[in-house]
Amino acid sequence: MGAFDNPLLRSRCFIDGTWVDSDNGAVLTVTNPATDETLTTVPRAGAAETEAAIEAAAAAFGSWKRTPAKDRGAALARWANLAEQNLEELAKILTAEQGKPLAEARGEVRSTIAYFRWFAEEARRIDGQILQAPSADRQYLAMREPVGVCAAITPWNFPSSMIARKVAPALAAGCTIVLKPANQTPLSALALAALSERAGIPAGVFSVVTGDARTIGQVMCGSVTVRKLSFTGSTQVGRLLMQQCAGTIKKVSLELGGNAPFIVFDDADLQAAVQSALAAKFRNTGQMCTCANRILVQDGVYEAFTEKLLSAVRELNVGNGAEAHVTQGPLIDEHAVGKVEELVTDAVTKGGQLLCGGRKHVLGGRFYEPTVIGDAVPAMRFSREEIFGPVAPLYRFSTEDEAIALANDTEYGLAAYFFSKDLGRVFRVLQALEYGMVGVNTHLIADEAAPFGGVKQSGLGREGAREGINEYLETKFASVQL
Ligand code: ADP
Repeated sequence: MGAFDNPLLRSRCFIDGTWVDSDNGAVLTVTNPATDETLTTVPRAGAAETEAAIEAAAAAFGSWKRTPAKDRGAALARWANLAEQNLEELAKILTAEQGKPLAEARGEVRSTIAYFRWFAEEARRIDGQILQAPSADRQYLAMREPVGVCAAITPWNFPSSMIARKVAPALAAGCTIVLKPANQTPLSALALAALSERAGIPAGVFSVVTGDARTIGQVMCGSVTVRKLSFTGSTQVGRLLMQQCAGTIKKVSLELGGNAPFIVFDDADLQAAVQSALAAKFRNTGQMCTCANRILVQDGVYEAFTEKLLSAVRELNVGNGAEAHVTQGPLIDEHAVGKVEELVTDAVTKGGQLLCGGRKHVLGGRFYEPTVIGDAVPAMRFSREEIFGPVAPLYRFSTEDEAIALANDTEYGLAAYFFSKDLGRVFRVLQALEYGMVGVNTHLIADEAAPFGGVKQSGLGREGAREGINEYLETKFASVQL
């Protein structure tokens, strides 16, 4: 065990309201990506523990479903209040296991709380319809019911808010849910489980199983009891899970990869565009599925934008996220560093201009220098692949049509951003972009009131907003003869 001390640190799975080890005592080590220190271990659970959690969720479902919506909402609100009271502890756990700066970790925990509160309120607004029947002696009803037992698999880049945006709507809808957090970052999930217990959420309604991803995933996807899987992660794993869910015709929600274009037109407010590009690219050290992956800049402002972006990037402060003033934490692991190195080498080989950064940071370990690459072209690997690191490629374009064609030239369709002050152009481009979410003159696209999700191979379904709870509801139609 490491020296990390935090009142919400938990090292066991939370199954059926009980803290348990894996059946065979096997563990996974959780490390701090900034220091490589061991924080703690968590159980390396497998099939048996996952089945136990699913059975507990099934046993809890009947009474949770019948719990009045306002009481389910009240439970979520208590959970939100506890998270707020423990915001600093949750943020410290998040930074320790994930690496993001404390200020960003606090922001993420605030967003977790916001999802809890939003869906606490939405619980009471679940309604149905009375429809026009074909004759006067019949009544048509469309009722909304919880889907049933759900399963969730979440990634390491937002270890707290990704959980809230699945678990809160599930519970609000009357579903019960079993969560498998990412192995790099299980501690935020377990800390939230500890608070769920204090909030009085009944045993089995929310369980957390840590351990072997493939085995746990197979059990979740193959289970006839589990009626829905919600996954956030890579397109590759999403595809696999969708296939595994086919056997039981499960509902699936998938939030997968992205390859966001960030378009700066000649008529843009350049200062605002630079500030947003910086946030959309470098927040969380570039490890977001909505990250600006390709920055497309029109001829007339290419030089000016580049210069402003470079001076902003040079201000970024790389280091351990737990230290004040740090704005760029480490990458999550060595594999991520290797991938970024490969993409940068590929770009430079193909004529990319290294304008700043381009190598591992002097701090060593998992730190990489914030990097800007000019003269990017479609032949470079990052034109197709998610970078997931602090590298900003700049592409030059001349016409609106060219920008739209470049922007849509990807299998992904999650987030896109563009900057323009021309109203006609704003609507033309907005209509032409094949994306689930578009930031127009802003990078702010994700919060509890916004339907988050992608088209094409970026996924299925939406999280947040009214749509977010609908994903956990099923329609039951009744035709009543009077
Ligand atoms: P990332 O590149 O963000 O790590 P992944 O898709 O690999 O994305 O991981 C997202 C989540 O999916 C994590 O919780 C991870 O443990 C889980 N995961 C990875 N592979 C599998 C798999 N074969 N079956 C089920 N879950 C998986």
